[in-house]
Amino acid sequence: MDEQISILIIYTGGTIGMIKNPETGSLQPFNFEGIYDQIPELKRFNYKLEFHCFDPLIDSSDMHPTHWVQLADIIEKNYASFDGFVVLHGSDTMAYTASALSFMLENLNKPVIFTGSQLPLGVLRTDGRENFITAIELAASREDNTPIVPEVCIYFENQLMRANRTVKYNAENFNAFVSPNYPVLAEAGVYLKFDRHHILKPNFKNLKVHRALDRRVGILKIFPGITREYVHAIIHEAGLRAIVLETFGSGNAPTDGWFLEEIKHAVDHGLAVVNVSQCPAGAVDQGKYDTSLALKNIGVLSGFDSTTEAMLTKLMFLLGQNMEETKFRENLNTPIRGEISAD
Ligand code: ASP
Repeated sequence: MDEQISILIIYTGGTIGMIKNPETGSLQPFNFEGIYDQIPELKRFNYKLEFHCFDPLIDSSDMHPTHWVQLADIIEKNYASFDGFVVLHGSDTMAYTASALSFMLENLNKPVIFTGSQLPLGVLRTDGRENFITAIELAASREDNTPIVPEVCIYFENQLMRANRTVKYNAENFNAFVSPNYPVLAEAGVYLKFDRHHILKPNFKNLKVHRALDRRVGILKIFPGITREYVHAIIHEAGLRAIVLETFGSGNAPTDGWFLEEIKHAVDHGLAVVNVSQCPAGAVDQGKYDTSLALKNIGVLSGFDSTTEAMLTKLMFLLGQNMEETKFRENLNTPIRGEISAD
């Protein structure tokens, strides 16, 4: 007989695990020991489910790279004993945490499915129940004794997405996340329909967890009317090693002499400046217009079709590895966890 599938559920905090305090009416985290009362359907799974709760629970706005390391540690410690992992996390910064984990967990061969909800489990119309139950199903899905989705993913409102391709784009509707530049990996309707062609293949190597993350990174979002003082302050005062330069359209920026001088100064002083578009969908194409050719000519790197969340966490990860400049650039230009479409 097949061995029972085991899933570790890691509850970090966020709306999904809240119930209304009957006295005050405000939302508060509920004790996960009572999870089977909240979702009795869980008992019907033929899987072994175990729970690990963060203490204290964290609203995802308070998530920090040290929590990402904590999560990676829990996954590593339990990696051999479980077939898959479900991470319950607030939706606000889920795309950052899940993107970071995708880089930190090298040679991941088991599913790590993040989910959460817009309405708490303790609310009648909650989206959390379906998200949670299906996330467990997805984490447990196997074929030929191998997990179907050996990746870090986000599951929300019927869609399974590669984590490092997602952005939170809706603060109210149940479909809170999109994956604008990569197809969804599975749709959950009557059946779980996997798009196998777009799912990463397992490599059967041993999991390697990377904990070193360099926080000396920043985001510079340009806008019409941006001042030299503002750009100067970020480049000179913030002590950064890398900047995600959020540009217009396909990677375009002002051609003012002072702007290019400031950016060139950054590049010449060893900062990695990576061009990522402010448009959620589409890719940076440096050189398509004069306004991006100028950036390319001064050494700004292309972020291709990366989300800001993925590029920021990738930079933290790559800088944390203290690799040589050429290796760093090579990694930046290559999809190391399927996070960019670059050939
Ligand atoms: N503020 C909550 C959080 O991100 C919202 C949510 O869970 O969706 O933790």
